[in-house]
Amino acid sequence: MTHIVEMKGMNKYFGKLHVLKNIDLTVEPGEVVVIIGASGSGKSTLIRCANGLEEYESGKLTVDGHPLAPKGGNQKALAEIRKEVGMVFQQFNLFPHLTVKRNIMLAPMKVKNTPETVANATAERLLNRVGIGSQADKYPSHLSGGQQQRVAIARALAMEPRLMLFDEPTSALDPEMIGEVLDVMRELAKEGMTMMVVTHEMGFAREVADRVIYIHEGQIVEQGKPDDVFDNPQNERTQAFLSRVL
Ligand code: ADP
Ligand code: MG
Repeated sequence: MTHIVEMKGMNKYFGKLHVLKNIDLTVEPGEVVVIIGASGSGKSTLIRCANGLEEYESGKLTVDGHPLAPKGGNQKALAEIRKEVGMVFQQFNLFPHLTVKRNIMLAPMKVKNTPETVANATAERLLNRVGIGSQADKYPSHLSGGQQQRVAIARALAMEPRLMLFDEPTSALDPEMIGEVLDVMRELAKEGMTMMVVTHEMGFAREVADRVIYIHEGQIVEQGKPDDVFDNPQNERTQAFLSRVL
């Protein structure tokens, strides 16, 4: 079986700053991997590499069978990878001048040449799926944060991604809206979506993750099943981090 993501000895620098150090990480189809770690440890950079939003300097990266070379190498697969990987950000990044439905229709029409009628039907189906079918014709600014983030998830799903990346999808939300976004993510996981999720929601991680990865200063220092990592962390850095956040 092909790995969805395969990183081997991957290194990433911002100038002199060595941000990702020798990352070895594979993600299998249907797997939910939650990435935890302190602010600045490299979590965002790691998942941004998985869709080519960040270049890396050395090592190997393959996404759904497409090899993406380090900086300066062959980037031919980039367009294909972008089509296959959906991303949801902390700040929802919706297009403010487009209605909710148009936000969702845009990429399939532009990137995949999906006919408008088909894109429209898909958008309606996805909006119902994330529980906001009635908001289709509103503009993003007229929606709550939780609703906007669900639109962002629907927008990513419209491209029928093979992998979904979530970078702290609930960190910008008021507490009462966090649950509705996590519920959608939980459903996606149940339906078998392959997901890499950066989050501070440890309850979600424990319940939904197949694997939890703890990153410290650009290195994976511990990974395992959520109950093992949370209840019995082996590395003292992990222990210290968890004692601060749990
Ligand atoms: P996290 O998501 O875990 O908070 P990031 O991956 O955003 O961490 O950042 C890792 C390190 O890289 C931090 O020291 C951050 O300041 C630095 N960094 C992130 N993005 C850039 C950038 N575009 N240019 C320079 N440094 C960056
Ligand atoms: Mg981050």
